[in-house]
Amino acid sequence: MIHNFNAGPSILPKEVFEQASKAILNFNNTGLSILEIGHRTSLFEAVLDEARSLVRELMQLNDDKEILFLHGGASTQFFQVPMNFLDEHETGAYLDCGIWGIKAIREAKLFGNVNVVASSKDRNYTYVPKDYVIPANAKYFHYTSNNTIEGTEMFYIPETNVPIVVDMSSDILSRQTDFNRFSLIYAGAQKNIGAAGVNLVIIDRNFKPVVNRKLPSMMDYMQHIANGSMLNTPPVFAVYVCMLTLRWLKSIGGIPAIEKINQQKADLVYSTLDAHPLFRPTVAKEDRSRMNVVFVMDDPEKEKQFLDLCKKENMVGVKGHRSVGGFRVSLYNALPLESAKAFCDLAKSFN
Ligand code: PMP
Repeated sequence: MIHNFNAGPSILPKEVFEQASKAILNFNNTGLSILEIGHRTSLFEAVLDEARSLVRELMQLNDDKEILFLHGGASTQFFQVPMNFLDEHETGAYLDCGIWGIKAIREAKLFGNVNVVASSKDRNYTYVPKDYVIPANAKYFHYTSNNTIEGTEMFYIPETNVPIVVDMSSDILSRQTDFNRFSLIYAGAQKNIGAAGVNLVIIDRNFKPVVNRKLPSMMDYMQHIANGSMLNTPPVFAVYVCMLTLRWLKSIGGIPAIEKINQQKADLVYSTLDAHPLFRPTVAKEDRSRMNVVFVMDDPEKEKQFLDLCKKENMVGVKGHRSVGGFRVSLYNALPLESAKAFCDLAKSFN
């Protein structure tokens, strides 16, 4: 058995792979491949409708929320958000908690003013800042709920009247939260939602994109909403894989059920690392991500030995991001508890 700890694209449920493979050969007994059906057919419309309604049900979204499947990865949302919501002389408030947030800040500066309300750069992004003020006149407040590279996660939603925009790429659908508190949620699909190539974007209808600049149609959220994510050809197969993954999540009991398993996996891995004399988790305990466990060893020779051992034991994706080094073990929704246990057994045996 291969234990897949990749950070994204990452492991998906086995049944999703099986169903997606079948659909490539014969989609819903039509004799056609999912890859060759038109996006404006009733066949695909049913897929998109089911994906949307599963998102609404699993996240318990209210009727004010519009659900979109868009192209371009989460990186497109870094600029599409300010392009739609931030006029030249307006200010967006941003939290700087690592590489993805920094990229979002850089893109926002192309369109308006950015007020970085707090940063955890002073300690190498190993914690989430807690005491900061979100200016009441900010157009929106943006943060990254889970910092995939640095391994921090923000478990609370800040109290503010300013509309909140969140990049949930790496922890969406992994734990319960009040998703209705957000004015805009975006997430690349390639971790907990499905296959790479599509973004889930959820926008509250009361959060109005009013800016003076002209927008290309493909960048205009309002046009995507008016056209039901069909402004152009959507990534049909990627949306289909999302629908299958959402079905799987519902079948195992939805977010409350997966949250319990995710907590178990994270507790197992962190407690194993904390108890071991050679491994050192880098993140402050209260901010440790349940999705991406980041840790180091003080001896580079030992690090290499452990990586070799992981490889030998069929554990893939354990190496840390190139920008931070060390190790990163990703524990996304589809990672079975057995894989987390297998990793812990291996770590315990290492000396
Ligand atoms: N935000 C976060 C939190 C991410 O983890 C990633 C990618 N891993 C991105 C944004 C960028 O996503 P994409 O590659 O889909 O543009």
